[in-house]
Amino acid sequence: MESFQLSLSLRCSGCQHPVPVQRIEAFVTCQACGERISMPLSRWQGLFEPGLWLEVLAMEPGTGRSMQVWGSVNASVSLCRVDVPEERGRAPDELVSGFVPGVVSVLGEEAAEPMPQAREPVFFACLSCGGGLKVDGSERMVGCQHCEASCYLPDGLWRELNPVPRVRDIALVCEIPEHQRVALILEHGDEEQKAQLASSCQDPVVLERLAEVDDEDVQLALVGRADERRLQLLLALSERWKVRRALAWRELDLDILEKLAEDGDGDVREAARQNNAWRAAHPVVALATPPAESPSMWREPLLALLLVLVCVGVFLGIGLALSR
Ligand SMILES: [Zn+2]
Ligand SMILES: [Zn+2]
Repeated sequence: MESFQLSLSLRCSGCQHPVPVQRIEAFVTCQACGERISMPLSRWQGLFEPGLWLEVLAMEPGTGRSMQVWGSVNASVSLCRVDVPEERGRAPDELVSGFVPGVVSVLGEEAAEPMPQAREPVFFACLSCGGGLKVDGSERMVGCQHCEASCYLPDGLWRELNPVPRVRDIALVCEIPEHQRVALILEHGDEEQKAQLASSCQDPVVLERLAEVDDEDVQLALVGRADERRLQLLLALSERWKVRRALAWRELDLDILEKLAEDGDGDVREAARQNNAWRAAHPVVALATPPAESPSMWREPLLALLLVLVCVGVFLGIGLALSR
């Protein structure tokens, strides 16, 4: 079980006031101007994209993401991972199920909006003549019956009469089966999530699909998992030479090695020709070219070490010269 906390505040396109969302519904009403903001499934999906769920799913409980969204609706969106609540909420309807992966329960929504009811009028002194005004909160600008002046109700009174609803933290309990999580990552995950999947997944079909991801880290992670010939063949076709070189170091069928030994890239060719299976198949060539003392995988670290040694030498030299 996973649990998320969602909160959403829209900006009313009519009056520009913030409109806190208190329930997951297809309509949200602006309390300030009465405008009904349409929130069909496509809008919810646009605000809470699959990638966002994946990102938050990978976080620790108590952390999450919040952001401003500008577009057909302007909104403040926040999604957190939380501990699974003990109580159960309402069952998800089609709308919720349409954008929350694996949702089984919804908690924390405000009860349905009460019908607007006539409020008890409040007495307020006219700002111009001091005469008593009856104010019911339906209009902010009130005409005085005594002096015909128009009074603009002060903030405090207006808010008293029209309480601004708060943004609700709506909890969503989800049960996301492994295959659905994998499908989400394949479809919407970023490269880091795909690389992680590549190094942990056991399903050969998923690994083959990951081989099509045009990313070096993903493909390099797959090289370590490429025990099956089909995956090896796919990786041998990679456009990235580092991937082909890493593959050439592995135990491979000879035909794949032969291809890599003729690769357009020198490093890949060299790696394939250093592979024991290839050398066994080409004893004459192997004899002529003894195994390299430092295979290319050591080249970069060795250069770095050399550079460090030179730097240390130079610093020691300067130190000695200064101490004299
Ligand atoms: Zn409004
Ligand atoms: Zn007056």
